[in-house]
Amino acid sequence: GDLSPVTVIGLGPMGRAMATSLLRAGHPVTVWNRTARRADDLVADGATLAPTPAAAVAASELTILSLTDYQAMYDILGPVAESSGPSGVPDGSGVLDGRVLVNLSSDTPDASRHAAAWAAGHGATFVTGGVMVPAPAVGGPGAYVFYSGPHAVFDVHEPMLRLIGEPRYLGEDPGLAQLFYQAHLDVFLTALSSLLHATALVTAAGVPAADFLPGALTTLTTIPAMIGDGADLARRLEAGEHPGDLSTAQMMGATADHIVWTSEKAGIDTRLPKAVRAHYDKAITAGRGTENWTVLYETLKAGD
Ligand code: NDP
Repeated sequence: GDLSPVTVIGLGPMGRAMATSLLRAGHPVTVWNRTARRADDLVADGATLAPTPAAAVAASELTILSLTDYQAMYDILGPVAESSGPSGVPDGSGVLDGRVLVNLSSDTPDASRHAAAWAAGHGATFVTGGVMVPAPAVGGPGAYVFYSGPHAVFDVHEPMLRLIGEPRYLGEDPGLAQLFYQAHLDVFLTALSSLLHATALVTAAGVPAADFLPGALTTLTTIPAMIGDGADLARRLEAGEHPGDLSTAQMMGATADHIVWTSEKAGIDTRLPKAVRAHYDKAITAGRGTENWTVLYETLKAGD
């Protein structure tokens, strides 16, 4: 077909799902992975396994990276970038020159910014991304991906990137995609830990997990109803409005105490509830205990 070729480097569960979506849409897909056998199923589905990272990058204008972290990219592409042209002979023009790298691996915003500068130093354009769904959901309904980096380059490749998930472009600063990724995962991981901690609290008392977990999930889904929409909370946080007429940090802090004490009595891990209690203590110590629980935002903005 006349669809543009694309290269995928990194064939963990995510990279394999991405390559599969691109193949299904009819793109010629070249893949490379440190452990070559992870490419077997993709090759059976029509992908081309490149013999080297240099050959993989040379095969397409666009290379998608799906690796554990950004260090893996330097491990794979560092030697390629420094050494030679596509011929393998050092000729002053590295294989990254003129290429577009889209790194969908997780790391810090600073790692993304550093990598964008590194890529630019080798003549490549760097787009950063964070995939917000697990591998089985890649390319399906509800999949979305945060992107940041050069807008014009992103726009050119947006139709292809859409095959991975709905693209959400955040801005030119290469750190933005990972900033949003980490912020969402902050909510996600904390909620997951709280679910498991709370289940341990209940089962320590001899209550089956099945008696508790469905209700716990309901509690998670009632948070939006309590908060209202995010735009309203954002407005109040930015305005510094924390009226304590319905509930206060003092009251919520007392509840946080009760969770710590119940956990201690149950003999289970207390670190998560102690961290939550510390957030309330900080606001109360700052003299803001009679304001709404959202006042935690004010004291959380300051470092430890
Ligand atoms: P995996 O850890 O399963 O795969 C990592 C890939 O990186 C493999 O191809 C691995 O190669 C390669 N790799 C790691 N270190 C090196 C290295 N030093 N040199 C060469 N290759 C290396 O990750 P996933 O596919 O699960 O995830 C990829 C990225 O997507 C991660 O950043 C993850 O945080 C993110 N993500 C994952 C989600 C998930 O549900 N799994 C959801 C959303 C984002 P090899 O096969 O040889 O080990």
